[in-house]
Amino acid sequence: MSRAQDTAAPPHPSEQHGTAGGSGTPDMPGTPDMPGMPSTAVGPGVDAASPHTASPPIRLAGVSKAYRRGAQVVPVLTSVNMTVAPGEFLALMGPSGSGKSTLLNLIAGIDRVDAGSVFVGDTDITTLDDADLARWRSRSVGFIFQFYNLIPVLNALENVELPLLLTPLSGRERRERARTALSMVGLSDRMDHYPGQLSGGQQQRTAIARALVADPDILVADEPTGDLDRVSAGEILNLMGGLNRTMGKTIIMVTHDPRAAERAGRLLLLEKGELADADA
Ligand code: ADP
Ligand code: MG
Repeated sequence: MSRAQDTAAPPHPSEQHGTAGGSGTPDMPGTPDMPGMPSTAVGPGVDAASPHTASPPIRLAGVSKAYRRGAQVVPVLTSVNMTVAPGEFLALMGPSGSGKSTLLNLIAGIDRVDAGSVFVGDTDITTLDDADLARWRSRSVGFIFQFYNLIPVLNALENVELPLLLTPLSGRERRERARTALSMVGLSDRMDHYPGQLSGGQQQRTAIARALVADPDILVADEPTGDLDRVSAGEILNLMGGLNRTMGKTIIMVTHDPRAAERAGRLLLLEKGELADADA
């Protein structure tokens, strides 16, 4: 799924990525292609000119979801309740097929609940019609996928620009934002590279820039390190941790990797359609 299919969204009130003047994109110090460096790519300098508004809390109440295969009904989630605090970094683990991706997609407004509510701030997104939901999503949520989901015939800059194509921004503003987002993930020097010319870690950083470019409050990541070697996975986790700490992004991350889960502030386990606190 591509966010480019989303309905046009009005500019987000807090969307300047710290380069309100346009031309002043600061290249981040360090050479983020080096292992261990990307954590510096999201530095205080990026954030300084753009004090983020607090992310909204997320609250799921009695959320149920089943899939139908012909006459067969497969229950996936049964009356799930959960709360995600503003600016929290939450990890979600559980066996394959336990409904982690389904839960993430319901929170992100990609999929629809059968029953229950998904409040994001004061809005119950389950009550929005498709157009309003798409508009809400394009403003509020950035997606990061296991296999990056970049468009192979577009270069990094064009991929990152995609979510902005249906906004009223001018081409120049879109490219400026895309450049800023790419510099935030340490890829200033790879903007004209195509996905096939980038390593897995660089592709995932490009995908993170795409997720960030509309300045959403919430990032959802579905096994973001699942296809990466250990070093690249560490870089991606550093980057996500930095976005959480310095920009206040709320992050919900599905993962199988205990090292990834360790980076989160809280770990939830999903098993047989039910959620449990990891410490409980
Ligand atoms: P996880 O991400 O934890 O591996 P998923 O949320 O992808 O689990 O899937 C949960 C269950 O729902 C699985 O049994 C899966 O086969 C089923 N499922 C997921 N998506 C669909 C769909 N679009 N149609 C039918 N069944 C689905
Ligand atoms: Mg999954």
